[in-house]
Amino acid sequence: AEEALRHAQKMDALGQLTGGIAHDFNNLLTAITGNLELLIARLGFGDQETLRGYASNAKAGATRAAALTQRLLAFARRQPLRPDTTEPDRLVRGMEDLLRRTVGEQITIEARMAPDVWPAWCDANQLEIALLNLAVNARDAMPAGGRITIAAENVHLSDKELPLGSKPGDYVRLSVGDTGSGMPPDVINRAFDPFFTTKPIGQGTGLGLSQVYGFVNQSHGLVRIESQPGRGTTVSLYLPRCLVERAARPVEVPESVGAPA
Ligand code: ADP
Repeated sequence: AEEALRHAQKMDALGQLTGGIAHDFNNLLTAITGNLELLIARLGFGDQETLRGYASNAKAGATRAAALTQRLLAFARRQPLRPDTTEPDRLVRGMEDLLRRTVGEQITIEARMAPDVWPAWCDANQLEIALLNLAVNARDAMPAGGRITIAAENVHLSDKELPLGSKPGDYVRLSVGDTGSGMPPDVINRAFDPFFTTKPIGQGTGLGLSQVYGFVNQSHGLVRIESQPGRGTTVSLYLPRCLVERAARPVEVPESVGAPA
């Protein structure tokens, strides 16, 4: 049942992805075709300036369609996950410089790590990308500056608190909070949809939160958004506690037993 649910969620995201792409592509092709038709109809009559206008509109449409394809390819090319023992406080500490450079000087970053946070079982690289995506969103929600709080703590989630298909048990909660614009309910509802963005063209791809969603889902965790318009947003990732020992290092062979000198 769990497998089926996961598959259904994946197909759902895929369906929305292709649906969104098809829609955008269709609009762009309509614009390209329309401008080319105008151009063809007026070739030899229209003044150069008007003709050039049609041609450059068609070109702009084609350029945007190409950019869309690139984004789709990047989305499809996502690497397979390599889950391992991941220590949240170590990971966050290792990202501090990058985060600071990313969010700029008007924003302060505070790390609030609970003592003895469990290791999580997930792909550390993908988790870094997810946290970076969340920090970028937090930054964009605070154009006049503010505060980002990165927190980690151990939590136990029971059946009642979990959506269908998730296992009750120990999770590590990693959250990124901001003091920004917040999100109205209709934005929260669509925030994980691939290519959904409220940002101007060129600034948002609409893929940040869909990366986060995909990563957390494939890690058997979950993601939650709490937001108050005008006050801020906190996005929490719940990742399963790592229950296996850190992978044992290969046994070192004493030199005397190695290859003969
Ligand atoms: P992008 O950032 O490229 O728009 P995302 O998938 O990361 O794509 O986010 C989708 C949308 O969700 C954003 O355009 C924005 O409207 C909203 N959003 C995400 N994070 C935040 C946040 N921390 N504060 C306010 N709005 C947010």
